[in-house]
Amino acid sequence: MPSEAGETTYDKAKILIVDDDRVNLKVLEGMLRGLDAEIHLALSGEEALELAMQHHFVLVLLDVMMPGIDGFQTAEQLRSRGGTEDIPIIFVTAISKEQRHVFKGYELGAVDYLFKPVEPEILQSKVRVFLDLYAQRQALQASEERYRTVADYNYDWEIWFSPNDKILYCSPSCERISGYTADEIIDGEDIFRRIILDEDYDSWRHFMADEMRVDGDSFDFRIFRKDGRERWISLVKFDVRKDDGKSLGLRCSLRDITDRKKMEIQLRHQALHDPLTALANRTLLMDRVARAMERANRHEDFHFALVFLDLDRFKVVNDSLGHIFGDSLLVEVSKRLWECVRGMDTVARFGGDEFVLLLEELDAPREAFTVIRRVLDQLREPFLIEGHQVQTTVSIGVVLGAQEDDRPSDLLQKANIAMYRAKESGRDRFDIYNDRMLQRAVDLMHLENDLRKAVQEREFRVYYQPIVSLEHGGLAGFEALVRWEHPERGIVSPGEFIPLAEETGLIIDLGRQVLEESTRTLARWGREHEQAEKLQLSVNISARQFRNNDLVQDVITALQKSGLQPGRLKLEITESTVMDNVETSLLRLQRLKEEGIRISMDDFGTGYSSMSYLQKFPLDQLKVDLSFVRRILDSTENAEIVRAIITLAHSLRMAVVAEGIELEEQADLLHSLHCELGQGYLYSPPVPAKQAEELLLKGIPAARPR
Ligand code: C2E
Ligand code: MG
Ligand code: MG
Repeated sequence: MPSEAGETTYDKAKILIVDDDRVNLKVLEGMLRGLDAEIHLALSGEEALELAMQHHFVLVLLDVMMPGIDGFQTAEQLRSRGGTEDIPIIFVTAISKEQRHVFKGYELGAVDYLFKPVEPEILQSKVRVFLDLYAQRQALQASEERYRTVADYNYDWEIWFSPNDKILYCSPSCERISGYTADEIIDGEDIFRRIILDEDYDSWRHFMADEMRVDGDSFDFRIFRKDGRERWISLVKFDVRKDDGKSLGLRCSLRDITDRKKMEIQLRHQALHDPLTALANRTLLMDRVARAMERANRHEDFHFALVFLDLDRFKVVNDSLGHIFGDSLLVEVSKRLWECVRGMDTVARFGGDEFVLLLEELDAPREAFTVIRRVLDQLREPFLIEGHQVQTTVSIGVVLGAQEDDRPSDLLQKANIAMYRAKESGRDRFDIYNDRMLQRAVDLMHLENDLRKAVQEREFRVYYQPIVSLEHGGLAGFEALVRWEHPERGIVSPGEFIPLAEETGLIIDLGRQVLEESTRTLARWGREHEQAEKLQLSVNISARQFRNNDLVQDVITALQKSGLQPGRLKLEITESTVMDNVETSLLRLQRLKEEGIRISMDDFGTGYSSMSYLQKFPLDQLKVDLSFVRRILDSTENAEIVRAIITLAHSLRMAVVAEGIELEEQADLLHSLHCELGQGYLYSPPVPAKQAEELLLKGIPAARPR
């Protein structure tokens, strides 16, 4: 019965002593006095049987030789009656230790023998064994009862396993959770082996057997309900122990957590996947990369490759067809990527139009290339989205395995660097990372830092290269060409930093500086020297500068500040710059024309060379690229191409400049093809303002009438 304090008070153990001799009874009783037991005495077998019906005895000490029914008969009777059949009996006998008596006693269910005269220590120790057993049983019963009263009504499924894995109790709520009744669970052979999913069974067994994980430790696993449905169960386990520390087994509470688990799985999925494409996200990818690196460390023949993909010109699709369309394209791309990889590989969306593949368990690193070629082929196939057919290609960077001190993020960076190399070398291809690429990337980063500083500190100088008339040999103008006076590296040529300035946007400030300085210089020469009054100034405008909405205003400001007439300024723009967005380019060019500024098409022949567009734009001049000039003497065909360009330009009322003239013969031939102007090392390389001013005053020897 539970007391208020929650502790259990047990019924006192009762012992029955049977002897026809009063003195013997008293002596035995006296010997047991110190023990925690209630002693009952009987003077005969008959009395003993009667008392046994009224009380639950833990033990009977039974004299063998008695008048009336003797000890053996009494034992026989006790064994044959319900309620008394299990009472342990110790025979106490004075008769000789004859074997036959002893055997008879055991046959009748005696658990032990004591021989008179009884020694107190022996008696006490024997009796104590039975008292201990009794106490244990009492404790077990008490906690079982307590458990049962709580468990029966509990919402959770409660189970009690004995120390030898028998189910002592199973609450009725198991039916709601498992579909099986409590009896089916208790009697079912190996029931948990059968209902727990194979994948979870071993961990379940480990958890149950792990003695370190008790008292509220929980474990989640899946079962098949009786109806076959799969459910998630959470099991909490408690060790049940008696006060003396002996185990009474495990008490377990099981709860159906299927809904929670589904939510968790969903949340986990959301936390680790890209919502648009459902591919792995950055977090999951980094985790998988880390694991692949660990495996590669441990196993020599485990190879993996990290593949970084970036869609080529995705921005164009997104800007022209809209974001929703762009999203659909990304989804379609991700589907194709899935088709290209194997089950153990990871496909991740890294952000925007960037994807990453982690290819694992490659027999040899080169196996990665098979997958990559498949990706390139697959993505080249046109996509049909919302009735539009779009085509896209992808640039890919690959790292094959890791080096010793690499971190996962280093690998990503390396793959990314290789991807940029692939883009630089013309897109729609892949490149494999090597350490030189890293060096280059690091150099570029330094260059970018330096460039930023240089723009702030105005470390740029404008050089001037003369442009002469091929006809009468006079100086027609100068092209402004920027140079960087790097404090350590000396003069750096624009080929090395203009692309980076473009990419970083620094070109805007840089271009403004060039415009202001060169217009100021030309205006000053015009004021100071009569022969410079009409000289033209050509200034290069890169794509990013041209796209910048401030361009027109910047040009006007430079002209106003310097006092140079607009008609003396020529902006050099390349074909690809204007072709990027034909409509806006046209408007911008018209604005510049309205201001009286002239436009020259630079590097003609290297880009689109789309004649039909050429006539759309208000161009004043066309600059034949130096690659044509360089080859012009090689063959008549080459000369014919230049002739065609010049004829075309003239028909569109444009003047023609040939750049890169290094030889007299080139100048002669160009003149004979009616090219008006020339520029090149033959006349002068680009030189600082001071030297250019001298050229303007002293004249250029090679510039002569032809
Ligand atoms: P570009 O506008 O086509 O300039 C012509 C390039 O040819 C210049 O190179 C010039 O030095 C070089 N050159 C001139 N004559 C000869 C010759 O006879 N033989 C050979 N082999 N080369 C010759 P540079 O100065 O290195 O400039 C390279 C490019 O950088 C320019 O090509 C232009 O696109 C760009 N750039 C230069 N300065 C500026 C600037 O201030 N702003 C912008 N946005 N771009 C600039
Ligand atoms: Mg130019
Ligand atoms: Mg050029």
